[in-house]
Formats: sequence, C-alpha cells, structure tokens
Amino acid sequence: MATPYDVQEAEDRWRRRWETEGIGRVDLDDVDPSDVFYNLAEFPYPSAEGLHVGHVFRYAGVDVHGRYRRMLGDQVFQPIGFDAFGIHTENYALKVGEDPISLTARTTARFRTQLERIGAAWDWSRVIDTSRPEYFRWTQWILVRLFEAGLLYRAEAPVIWCPSCLTVLAREQTERDGTVCERCESTVTERVMTQWFLRITAYADQLLDGLEELDWPERAKRLQRRWIGKSVGREITFGDLTVFTTRPDTLPAVTFLAVPPGHPAAGSTRPHPITGAAIPVYEADYVVEAYGTGAVMGVPAHDERDRRFAEEHDIPTSEAELLEPAVAASVGSPATRYRLRDWLISRQRYWGPPIPIVHCPDCGAVPVPEDELPVLLPEVDDFRPTGTGRSPLAAAHDWVDTSCPRCGGPGRRETEVSDTFVDSAWYFLRYPSTEYHDRAWDPDRTAKVLPVDFYAGGPEHIQRHHLYARFVTMALHDLGLVPFEEPFPRIRIGGMIIEGGAKMSKSRGNVVSPDDYIDTVGADALRCGLLFSAPWEQGGEFTNAAIAGIERFFARTWRTITGPDGAEPDNSIMARAIKAVTDAIERLAFNVAIARLMELLPHIGSPASKRTFVRLLAPFAPHLAEELWMRLGEPFSVHTQPWPRYDERLLEDEEVELAVQVDGKVRGTVTVPRDASESDVSEIARRQVAGLPMTDEVRVVYVPGRVVNFVTGESGMSRRSDRTRPDGDVAAVSGTA
Ligand SMILES: [Zn+2]
Ligand SMILES: [Zn+2]
Repeated sequence: MATPYDVQEAEDRWRRRWETEGIGRVDLDDVDPSDVFYNLAEFPYPSAEGLHVGHVFRYAGVDVHGRYRRMLGDQVFQPIGFDAFGIHTENYALKVGEDPISLTARTTARFRTQLERIGAAWDWSRVIDTSRPEYFRWTQWILVRLFEAGLLYRAEAPVIWCPSCLTVLAREQTERDGTVCERCESTVTERVMTQWFLRITAYADQLLDGLEELDWPERAKRLQRRWIGKSVGREITFGDLTVFTTRPDTLPAVTFLAVPPGHPAAGSTRPHPITGAAIPVYEADYVVEAYGTGAVMGVPAHDERDRRFAEEHDIPTSEAELLEPAVAASVGSPATRYRLRDWLISRQRYWGPPIPIVHCPDCGAVPVPEDELPVLLPEVDDFRPTGTGRSPLAAAHDWVDTSCPRCGGPGRRETEVSDTFVDSAWYFLRYPSTEYHDRAWDPDRTAKVLPVDFYAGGPEHIQRHHLYARFVTMALHDLGLVPFEEPFPRIRIGGMIIEGGAKMSKSRGNVVSPDDYIDTVGADALRCGLLFSAPWEQGGEFTNAAIAGIERFFARTWRTITGPDGAEPDNSIMARAIKAVTDAIERLAFNVAIARLMELLPHIGSPASKRTFVRLLAPFAPHLAEELWMRLGEPFSVHTQPWPRYDERLLEDEEVELAVQVDGKVRGTVTVPRDASESDVSEIARRQVAGLPMTDEVRVVYVPGRVVNFVTGESGMSRRSDRTRPDGDVAAVSGTA
C-alpha cells in the first residue's frame, strides 16, 4: 500500500524541529526534583556493525515509556551515550588493522546518526563517551578513591586467562560455568598472576540484603542472589584439611573428600573426625567453584552428585545415621561462604583507561594525584596484545618512566588498563553533570536527579553491569560521595529480538540493520512494527509482516485523521480505550497498547476524538503523530500535550465483583470485567487469590456477576453439565448441596 505522505521528508523535518526547539531536553537547573523522571536505557558499545533492530526494539520501548511520562507531566530526563572503550571495539580494530581511536570515532558517529534517526527523545546536550579523557578522568578518579579506601588492591591470585583475547577476565565475563570467554567463546585457562581487584566481596551481604527492597523482576533478583551465592554452614576439620558444608548432619555418612584439581591434598587420605577412619581425598572438577575454600565432603547416601561421583570411582556408600540437629549444630565451627569473588578489573590490553597508579621502589603503589588526572593513553607503535601477560602500554618507555607522586624519586606507571565494566559502573552518575569539568558529578544535581527512576536493562547484564553498578554506588555512598546506596530502584529487563528463530549475530549472518527500514518505511513503522511483534519484556521474532501490518494501520490512521469529520464515538468506548492503552504502557505491554489503538481507530470521527487518538499514538509513532497534530490545526508540539484522561465513572458498570469459592467456601473476592469469559475469570482469580487448586484438578463453576467456584473431588466431577448457569442457584451448583 502506498504511504499517503512522504515519510522521509516528514520524519527528517520533525526531528530537526524537535532538536531546534529542545523537545526532549530538560533544564536540570530549573526543575523541581519531584518532577524529574530519570528514564534510562543502557548505553550501547559502538560496534562496527552499527545498531541492529534488537537495539531499536529495546530503545523504542524506553522511548514510548519516556514520552508517555512526559505527557503525564513529568520532566523526563532521557540521555544516551557510548560505552566506547573495551575489548569488543579493540578486537574489531585488530581484525581490520585500524587504530582503535579512529575506529571508535567513526563507529560512534555512525551510532549517533542511527540513534537520532529512530526518533527517540534523547537529550543530546548531555551525551557521554567513556573513551574520552573528559570522561575517563573521572573513572580514574573513582579508582583512586577506592584505592585510598582499601577497596582497590593488587594481589597474586589464580585468574582466568583468555588465550585468544590475550588478557585476564573477570569471572563474570565467562560463560558455560566459567569455561569460555563471553566475548570470543574461546576456552579459558587459569594462570597465577598479580592483578588489580575491587573488593566487591566486602559488600556481599549489603548487595544481597538490598535486593529485597528493589522493584526488579524476580528472575533478575534470583540471578544476582545465585551469583553472590551465600551459604551458611560449618567448617569441619579432617586432619589438616578444612571442609565447608551446609549439611553437618551428614558427617557420619562421609566416604570421601573432594578438592579442586591440582590441590596438594589429592591422592592422600585424611582421618574422619568422629570415627578416625581414613577418608580418601579425590580431585573433582565440580569443586572448581569453591576455589579458595578448599575441600568439600562426599556423602553418596545423601547427595545425587556425590553418588554419581562415588559410582564412577568405586567409592563405597555409607548408610550411617544422620546426626541429631542439636548435635550437628555443634560440629566444627560456624562459617559463611560466598560464591562471589573480588572483581578482577585489570586488563593486559590497550583500549581502556590506564589504572592511575605509579609504582615506586620506596613507597610502593602510589595513586596519581587528582590534579594530574587523566592519565592519558600513550601513543604506541603496536597496540596489539602481547600474550606475555604484559600490556602493550609497557612498550611506551617514555610514558612508563615517571616520578613518584609521593617522594619524587623514579617511578614506573602501572601499564594495565581497567575493564570496560568499570566505565559503565558509574556512567549514570555522570549524565546529569556533564557540564561540570571540575567534578565527576555535582552533589546538588545528583540529589535532584538520581537515583535512576526507570532503568531498562538487558538480561546479559544482571550478573555483570547491574551488580557492579550497585557495588560501586554503595562504596561511593560509604565514602560520602553519593546520597543513596541503590542506583536502580526499578529495573525492567527487555527481551531479545530474534530473526529466523535465532539470536541475531554476525556469524549467523542474520543481523537486521534498521537503516534499510528507516530509509523505506520510516522510523515510526519500524518502531511500532518491532513493538507490535512481541511483548517488550519477552522479546520475539522479527518479521516483515508485522511492519507491513503497521504500514496499513498508519495509512488508515492518516485517512481517518485527515479525512472528513464524523460522529462522536460513544464515551465509554473512548474511556475504555484510554484506560487500556494507559494500563498497557504502564505494564510495558506495548504490543497490547498498539492493538488497542488499532481497535479504537474505526470509532474515531469527531474532531475531539481525532485529537485524543493522535495524543495516544504520539509515544509510539512520534513523527506521524506530530504531522497529524499539525494537520488538525493544533499548535506544536503533540509531545508537550497532556496525556488523555477519561472519566472513571464511565467504566464503573464495566466491572463487577465476584466471590471466589473453593467447594462452596468463600476464599476471597475479585473484580473482573462484566463480560469476562470463564477462563479469564479463573485466571484472574488464580492470580489474586492465594491457594486455589490447579485447573486440571477441578471443575470451575462460574455464575457471571456473582461467584466463581472451584469444585474439587468426585461431587464436582459429576456435575459437569452445570458449568455456567447465568442465573443459577449458587448453593445448588457449588457442590455442597
Ligand atoms: Zn576471549
Ligand atoms: Zn616514592
């Protein structure tokens, strides 16, 4: 179907006008703190491939939410930036043989154009780029603060090494139980090296406890809890070997001990603390996670994994009786263990902020003074990773050789850089303060704008970026530098857009770029096509059919709004639609909201209903709505109009309260739409009333307007013919008569 207006011309024109007039910018000096709504999307790393439609799906959802909040009257602060340092960018630079500085400048410019063209109301006056000295100066300043607080330290430890990226990695940067590099999927190895760590384990309990109060998806909380992995148990000694267990009661049934591969105790025996029997010590891969905690007990009679291990190694099973709880509670000594390890942040790479430390033979590790920051990256002939465990920065001798900031004697600069996840652990603090060049963030500004009101994250960041950002914020809070402990009180996790049933990736060749769509059907159709394809938090398949469906909807919208005026729709139809679209946006169910707009369109006729419709459409299709708003003769801009309201009284008759019974006994009440079906009613009841039996075990008797009864057992099954009786006798159908 031919589009009835020149999409490219209209979209370009409105984007220029919005930028000129500052739609999307908030004057943070002149704003009431209670009005500011910090609506944040995770910033992208500017890959060479450019933005793909998965980004557009994520960002379009954030933008609809932000535009809706603005129409509700909030001062919406919605910045964007570039996570431009890091191995991703550098690996690509290595592949094409380009300097990462010029490569990043190019990819960032391309990303910016793409981000502009999707028509999101970004505040471009506050853009940040983590690879720019004016940003990483403050990343280094934070590292100095943490060093002085004892939270950044250097230690020799077994670390994870990627033989392809030629650098150490944090545990969070591995996948498949810590066996492969998340960036290049190479099998990682272990090395003992002297490295820089952030003491995140000091905050393990605070990170756990803080989760309780956060408005996050349960799944995200669960993943962080599991990653921190707190277990409370006992330490029990078998000779000189200390084991940790959460099941001290199984001590009598221990038939072996397991240690990580390479542990010196492997192949020997240790005496059982009660019986004195010689207990063999085996190496087991599954103890790797417990590195640093030593050994674990093997109890084949009471643990499935131990049983399998015992069978493989012909170890006997003991059926000895378990200890009484009071006894078990006094075995060994109490101990708490965490799965979380300190965060390894140093990298033997080029493309990151140099760790701002000078090594002095007399003073040790000395932080670079604040007035000498940033420590810039030296120019090097070869930025390729060396593979020797030394950073490419070590070859820049003139840069490495310096003087000690404390004693003035000869010193050597630290030659490793910090990981990109340090850059992103604090970037949300910088956005509101970008105009300040003498401080990382302004205290008043920070108190006014932060914490982030709504954070749209990716599932891959729950155990990485979200955890690191919480830790850094808590540490900065304890140093008196920020007035809150939790940066993201409300997170929602966006789903993934797939293509041809698979995650988009360059190697599969199924990455869909937004450019071709924006050039043909326009940004609005792409945004709505993506949002219509799948629930935002769930994600789903990208199809051209969804885009085509949106194009037809836009064409009908154009004809209706610009066409002759018609009749006023029924009040309750408008009220129901406004309520449905509003509720759907609040739930981030943008697909549902668009479907409701499609249903509403045929009822639109009068000038008032046209104006309401265009305002409801504005967050989703910002350019089209602006164009239609102008054609209705209304003043610029639709995006500063109030969100449509409706009269609650018009909906009163729409809903009805029902009693919820199980076998005739009242368990609660629910409010449901008057015309709800039996299956809708049972679903709503199950969601809102605790303890109802499962569907396949019961017969549901629904008397519209009065009661829904879940009938269990034989008396219920014999009355199947009574399923729904519009005016039936409640006692007679309840199964108790
Ligand atoms: Zn790698
Ligand atoms: Zn010194």
